Amino acid sequence: MNPAPRTHLTVGITHVGKVRKNNQDSLKIEEISDRETLLVVADGMGGHAGGAEASRIAVDHVMECVLTAHKAAEPSPDKRAVLREAILGAHAQIRTRGQNDRALQGMGTTCVAVHLDGNEALWAHVGDSRIYLHQPGHLELLTRDHSRVQQLVDHGLISPDEARTHPYRNVITQALGPMDKIQVDVGPEPIALGPDEQLLLCSDGLSGMLTDQEITDVLDRHPDAEDAASALIQGALDSGGDDNITVVLGRLA
Ligand code: CA
Repeated sequence: MNPAPRTHLTVGITHVGKVRKNNQDSLKIEEISDRETLLVVADGMGGHAGGAEASRIAVDHVMECVLTAHKAAEPSPDKRAVLREAILGAHAQIRTRGQNDRALQGMGTTCVAVHLDGNEALWAHVGDSRIYLHQPGHLELLTRDHSRVQQLVDHGLISPDEARTHPYRNVITQALGPMDKIQVDVGPEPIALGPDEQLLLCSDGLSGMLTDQEITDVLDRHPDAEDAASALIQGALDSGGDDNITVVLGRLA
């Protein structure tokens, strides 16, 4: 018997960048079933080991929770609630690890996750990692950064472009781990992915190095997903590669 045709085409790349010594970003992509795929990106922070450990726990825990819910639920679970609970669970786990291990004290991470089910996409988000929806010539930012500079943008004090180079650009207002309580933003309704559309999940090593217009141009020029992901990484490196860079693309196969 032939295997069922794949519903989604996905690619993920993470790169240490040109300045940092280690990569504290993590990513995970997994097919949950023939028609469901989960994409997760996390950008860790804190200490030598802490950041990488926090982001690794985040992507592993979110993946495990979603897989467990998928297997256990009858009928199918509320996917938005599962995503939210998965991220809150990762937060609790990172917090406990950080409190029990001195070397990991204060570690934290962002987290963005997308659950693709057929042509529908659900997303959840904490921190300044991002999820974009791309169609040729157009890029829409679905998430709103939990960051100081986003607050300044919201108050009309700086422009989104100024935010990329602002001295506070690395200050995030929500993260898994360091804070007592966190707010998980979950997309209000499923997004219907069209045949010429794709989702981009990334850490700020991409969105801090390239403008939205530059990201759009790269995606427009590279219809092949693997080429597009490589070109985005290369674009961020060419712009300085100040930070770890992670890119995940998901589209209909
Ligand atoms: Ca980063």
